[in-house]
Amino acid sequence: MTTHSGPADRDPAAHLAPGQMGRPDGLAGGPADDSVDGWIDRWTGRASLRAIVGGMGADRPVRPLAEVLDELSAEFAKTAAEHDRTGVFPVANARRLHEEGILGLTVPREYGGAGAGLATAVQVLAAIGKGEPSTALVLAMNLMFHGRARDWASWPPGVYERVATSCLTEGALTNLLRGEPDLGTPARGGIPATTARWNGRCWELTGHKVYSTGAPVLSWMLVWAATEPASDPAPPPSGYPRVGWFLVPADTPGITILRTWDHLGMRATESHDVVFDEVRLAPEAAVLLGDPGAPDAAARQAEATVRAAGWSALTIAAVYLGVAEAARDWLIRYLHERVPTNLGRPLAALPRFQNVVGQIEVRLTNARTLLDACARDVDAGHELAGRRADGVKAAVTEAAIGAVGDAVALIGNPGLTRANPLERHYRDVLCSRIHTPQDDVVYGTAGRAALGL
Ligand SMILES: Cc1cc2nc3c(=O)[nH]c(=O)nc-3n(C[C@H](O)[C@H](O)[C@H](O)COP(=O)(O)OP(=O)(O)OC[C@H]3O[C@@H](n4cnc5c(N)ncnc54)[C@H](O)[C@@H]3O)c2cc1C
Repeated sequence: MTTHSGPADRDPAAHLAPGQMGRPDGLAGGPADDSVDGWIDRWTGRASLRAIVGGMGADRPVRPLAEVLDELSAEFAKTAAEHDRTGVFPVANARRLHEEGILGLTVPREYGGAGAGLATAVQVLAAIGKGEPSTALVLAMNLMFHGRARDWASWPPGVYERVATSCLTEGALTNLLRGEPDLGTPARGGIPATTARWNGRCWELTGHKVYSTGAPVLSWMLVWAATEPASDPAPPPSGYPRVGWFLVPADTPGITILRTWDHLGMRATESHDVVFDEVRLAPEAAVLLGDPGAPDAAARQAEATVRAAGWSALTIAAVYLGVAEAARDWLIRYLHERVPTNLGRPLAALPRFQNVVGQIEVRLTNARTLLDACARDVDAGHELAGRRADGVKAAVTEAAIGAVGDAVALIGNPGLTRANPLERHYRDVLCSRIHTPQDDVVYGTAGRAALGL
């Protein structure tokens, strides 16, 4: 069990001060470079990420993004098995992503970031997912959060800016904490049991969150909670509690991380339980609160969901597509190297193996094409793309699970031994279908729409 603690009487407003939010694990970096603005155009012109973002390593040679991603993917792959075994998040990987300017890739330009869109984010996540998927999932949450920054436009002034600045300068990571032990996933409706009580001066947050990816390395936790109606200074007319998001600096006293994450796959994500015990927060920590009983609440929720769907569904899909691509690459190498004495040639020479590798290749190429196209459409603002993103997530994860499953079935014991990475890829890729949106919701929604119901 890890406890973040400190003086109980610490001024809650100080928790939102810049410079307070870095984690004591070395995820710190230099100041942002003014030349960040517009870097993405130069990058497409083959300028160096490292030279432009964060002002780090400007002396190093100019390299295209694809080359940087290949290097990071290969580097992260070297320790992936060890992190899977220990279940410890690879902090060094996050530091490398920060050094390369990738953590802040989707921070909007007006906040000093690169302003990269979803199409770039999925390219990055598939590459990092291929190397080490737990790193990629933590990165996905951070890129998604900043990529949706216009959803945070109504936050109290200056608050998002502080989070963005901490990401760019210190490598601060943010994630959304929604699921709860009793409610389960909020994707199917319901009101959180996590409660914010207004004590006349600050909020006191109490509750329990599950599956909090990257919990020990986060700087900011965006916690889904409900206000306590009796103490709420702005009680909604409907009589419901206000429900929404509280921005919690992860080093605030009263936060306990319960190291509960011991899953089949994605073991190094450290997606632990997080308990909040009267965690005191500045008034502006209540960044986004709505009245679920208000007449326009459903419409506003629907609009936000369409906008968010593209980012949440496709970033998740990209991580697991990367896992499947790693499995395919390993299989191809294995089929070239394995020469059974009874055959006298590599397994790759047999039509049976060529056929299955071909099926895997076509599946994953189609998935990649679909993912990239939908991400570009979301970037272009096509509302339909936002609506279709859930279906694309379902199709891409189905392809990814199918491809790794076919690889395992094809080669027998070598696919099941822990001596080879394929069994790890298989465990990891199975987690893809659990993430919101789950297939029954995707297909049920699509079915009702097609039937006009
Ligand atoms: C690797 C990983 C990382 C994650 N990281 C995060 C994170 O950082 N933050 C976060 O908030 N969440 C996170 N999650 C949780 C995830 O986003 C889903 O919310 C959660 O996994 C939902 O699945 P569940 O099986 O836990 O659902 P549960 O709510 O526990 O439900 C169990 C089963 O019942 C079904 N079910 C539940 N309610 C209904 C209903 N009303 N109607 C029909 N079926 C129902 C579900 O589909 C599921 O099959 C993570 C999940 C994974 C796998």
